[in-house]
Amino acid sequence: MPENFQNFIAGEWVAPSTGNYFENRNPADWNDLIGCFPRSGPEDATRAIASARRGFVQWSRTPAPLRGAVLQRVGELLVQQQEAIARAMTREMGKVLAETRGDVQEGIDTAFYAASEGRRLFGRVVPSELRNKWAMSYRRPIGVAGIITPFNFPMAIPTWKMFPALLCGNAVIFKPAEDVPHTGHLLVEVLLEAGLPPEVIQLVHGQGSVVGRALIEHPEVPVISFTGSTETGAIIGATCGRMHKRLSLEMGGKNAMIVMDDADLDLALDGVVWGAFGTTGQRCTATSRLILHEKIHDRFLKMLGDRAGTLRLGPGLEERTEVGPLIHEESRQKVDRYVGIGKKEGAAVLVGGSTASGGALDTGWFYQPTVLAGVNPGMRVAQEEIFGPVLSAINVGSLDEAVRVNNDVPYGLSSSLYTRDVNAAFRAMADLDNGITYINAPTIGAEAHLPFGGVKQTGNGHREGGWEVYDFYSETKVCYVDYSGQLQRAQIDTYD
Ligand code: NAD
Repeated sequence: MPENFQNFIAGEWVAPSTGNYFENRNPADWNDLIGCFPRSGPEDATRAIASARRGFVQWSRTPAPLRGAVLQRVGELLVQQQEAIARAMTREMGKVLAETRGDVQEGIDTAFYAASEGRRLFGRVVPSELRNKWAMSYRRPIGVAGIITPFNFPMAIPTWKMFPALLCGNAVIFKPAEDVPHTGHLLVEVLLEAGLPPEVIQLVHGQGSVVGRALIEHPEVPVISFTGSTETGAIIGATCGRMHKRLSLEMGGKNAMIVMDDADLDLALDGVVWGAFGTTGQRCTATSRLILHEKIHDRFLKMLGDRAGTLRLGPGLEERTEVGPLIHEESRQKVDRYVGIGKKEGAAVLVGGSTASGGALDTGWFYQPTVLAGVNPGMRVAQEEIFGPVLSAINVGSLDEAVRVNNDVPYGLSSSLYTRDVNAAFRAMADLDNGITYINAPTIGAEAHLPFGGVKQTGNGHREGGWEVYDFYSETKVCYVDYSGQLQRAQIDTYD
């Protein structure tokens, strides 16, 4: 019998009010049932919100350095459990072990950064324009934060959101993606073991359109942080806008790597293989367009075709595997549909182009690493997020044209430029319309202590990570203390 996992609501592990569960299966072997997870209803979310409000009263009054000490302990526990969590994550999400270890490492880095922030969380003391008057700003916690996350970084993304939210004194309700509930469960166990007061964290599993929606529509969840598709983000944004909620959206991408004629082509080849096919192309920052200068176009495509055709597909738990499966059947169908669209639009399949089969691959959602050549910038495969191991190669005649092609998509998360020309690199850094640009490195690879996010339809202006996310999870309050003993009128008595 598979294990029935529970929600964590009001300080207890509890069954969903619906009595219903959904299966969580290994995408590399659909015969491997990991467990059953609650298909919760709106009532579960409502109970979690009432409890989190009690948790908030307690936690918001806990001094920030003590909140930081809990997160320090969280980081230490994640270090101890890194390998076990990485293996559980690979089993339910599919990416290779080196990547799931890195995913947990990002959680560890985020925990230690948040812990140290407990002794900073700076406000400002600012000179007043009036005599004998003190002026300062400081941060206050906001309330209950609803955290809704995608499947592709089951540990890193929840920790990017939760740890700063908690450090700032908020209570958290966590709704993990349906495809990766086990990692979410393990993370909440770590938080509790580290000594987080139980009502400060609530875990409610289930469908986004039910549980996620209940959080978004509830007036007592003033902060929502969402990472996922641009389509879902638009639905959430409409509700949060109507309800005047604070909302952080991190959404889709269509990231490009530009390779100029003076680039180190071997370095660029390593970069594009990692950027396009790492995580089976299921990263928001995945390289999905390859913009090649015409002088190296044919040579580089030949090198890429040779390399991409030899990548070893298989279960991510096997150390020799380089590319794991896609997350589920619909995802594989979507990838295959886009390859068909590309062909119809006139692109040529340089390598890959169909589902992968044979041996262990027959019971998982595998797709061949695919390169489409002869792609025009306006084609759908060059404009729309595919979210799989498909790379569209585009030929350009100059850096200016490459920058134009990079910018001419609805998204703006990450970009990359390979060149040895320092002037070109600095010009491109200014002109590439993305939240992140890499020089001589692929489009992927965020660091926990730097702000992360994108422009245009990738985001709504907030950033995860680094110092900026602490602004999102705290309310700025300003206090003035007038010790002049007389009425001083701002803007009127200022220059007396
Ligand atoms: P998704 O939008 O399908 O789901 C994300 C989360 O939203 C899940 O937890 C889901 O249950 C929930 N959800 C779905 N409908 C909802 C609704 N109506 N109300 C509230 N919640 C709802 O995304 P996914 O397939 O899990 O992830 C892939 C997408 O995430 C890609 O588009 C990728 O680019 C994006 N992503 C972006 C970033 C970034 O930082 N920009 C990072 C990772 C992934």
